[in-house]
Amino acid sequence: MRYCPLDKIDYDDDVEECVVCGGPLVDGTSREQFDEADDDRWVELDPVNSLTHAKLVQEALEEEEIDSYIEAFYGGGGGDGYTATVMVQEQNFDDALEIQQGLTPPDEDDLIIDPDNDDF
Ligand SMILES: [Zn+2]
Repeated sequence: MRYCPLDKIDYDDDVEECVVCGGPLVDGTSREQFDEADDDRWVELDPVNSLTHAKLVQEALEEEEIDSYIEAFYGGGGGDGYTATVMVQEQNFDDALEIQQGLTPPDEDDLIIDPDNDDF
């Protein structure tokens, strides 16, 4: 597992750079960014169909001061070529799920990653 420390997104090992910010990935998982990484249990919210959507969820959670990170999976047939799961700590799960479900998925036009771009 590799991750982007800026965006807190985990990628597969064969991904070289973050598709959101273009920055280098480091070995490990975004979970290591949080103080209570080892003590708390992390759980998955509902999977979303694009990395863009996952970032929206992450930003909304951040506004509520809920720690989260993203696990990105390439090739899931999502809008930008990715599917993603937002991870939160167990005690925040109910609040986080409510926030996620209250968000409207982004339009195809708003995707931060262009699926037609050959660079990916
Ligand atoms: Zn990034």
